[in-house]
Amino acid sequence: MKSTLVPAKDQKWQITELPQPKPSPNQVLIKMHASGICFTDVHQTRGELPGPFPRTLGHEPVGEIVELGAGVRSRKVGDRVGVPWVQSSCMRCEWCLRGKPMFCAEQMGTSVNMPGGHAEYMLAFAEATVPIPDTVSDEQAAPIFCAGYTVYSGLRWGKPLPHETVAVVGIGGLGHLAVQYAKAAGFKTIAISHSPDKVALAKQLGADEVVKDGAGLAKLGGADLILGTSNSTDAMSDSIKGLRPDGRFVLMGFDAKNLQVSPSDLIMKRIQILGSQQNRRDFLYEALDFVAQGKVKVMTETYPFDKYQEAYERVEQGKPRFRAVLTF
Ligand SMILES: [Zn+2]
Ligand SMILES: [Zn+2]
Repeated sequence: MKSTLVPAKDQKWQITELPQPKPSPNQVLIKMHASGICFTDVHQTRGELPGPFPRTLGHEPVGEIVELGAGVRSRKVGDRVGVPWVQSSCMRCEWCLRGKPMFCAEQMGTSVNMPGGHAEYMLAFAEATVPIPDTVSDEQAAPIFCAGYTVYSGLRWGKPLPHETVAVVGIGGLGHLAVQYAKAAGFKTIAISHSPDKVALAKQLGADEVVKDGAGLAKLGGADLILGTSNSTDAMSDSIKGLRPDGRFVLMGFDAKNLQVSPSDLIMKRIQILGSQQNRRDFLYEALDFVAQGKVKVMTETYPFDKYQEAYERVEQGKPRFRAVLTF
């Protein structure tokens, strides 16, 4: 089979002919239909995140099951599935036993210690796979396994209540989905973006209002929940000025800078600063279901598999509007 490989840290991806893998017990073999490329692929290629080289990246994979390993009963050949980042964990440590496998130190991760989806075929543990609703296309489903899952988990983690207002800072790969999820879930939704060209877009995505910064948000009455999806920590810190008393700020966008929070805001407004990852499997189910209902649409650029280099370079330069997906 054809597979991309990152030969070594910070090296260009190469297409390589590899033997088609055989599923071990409890695994399935998936023929890839679509595989999203995310900025995390860039961090991985540069060696900024753990994982051995050479390896095949791709943590937003969607395809069709073509072979079952021994003992697989929950999936059938022909099932269309996607695979999230964390496939399995040790099931022995405190966090696994407490039902929080995201904190396990011995996770098996798609594109980390198991080859990812930027290849014609990939293996996955059957229990990690998630069936794709019939009305969701492969290209729409793939980015939900990372970007959609992440922002929807952040929305759920921030526990918005009826009548509350949700703001989204950063209208990009994550944020364009966060705005749609907040609106689809029934909340008054405010987009925060410095770019004038994002105003019309944010409204199209469902934002009730668009403001430039935290001061603008405060002027509108503020938000009870802010979803931080920007890759600028400064923009996210600034947005906290618009958080209402008892408000929650949920950080998902990554930047190496520290988040600045005023101690007086923390105390007097009793605000909460939360971090969030992909949290729980039921959040992925709901994230996919909103797409199936037609309430959330991923804005994608699709590239045939052999154009992977071009797709990767665009992601590296932050150019796609907003998710790049390889199709097979
Ligand atoms: Zn564990
Ligand atoms: Zn990703």
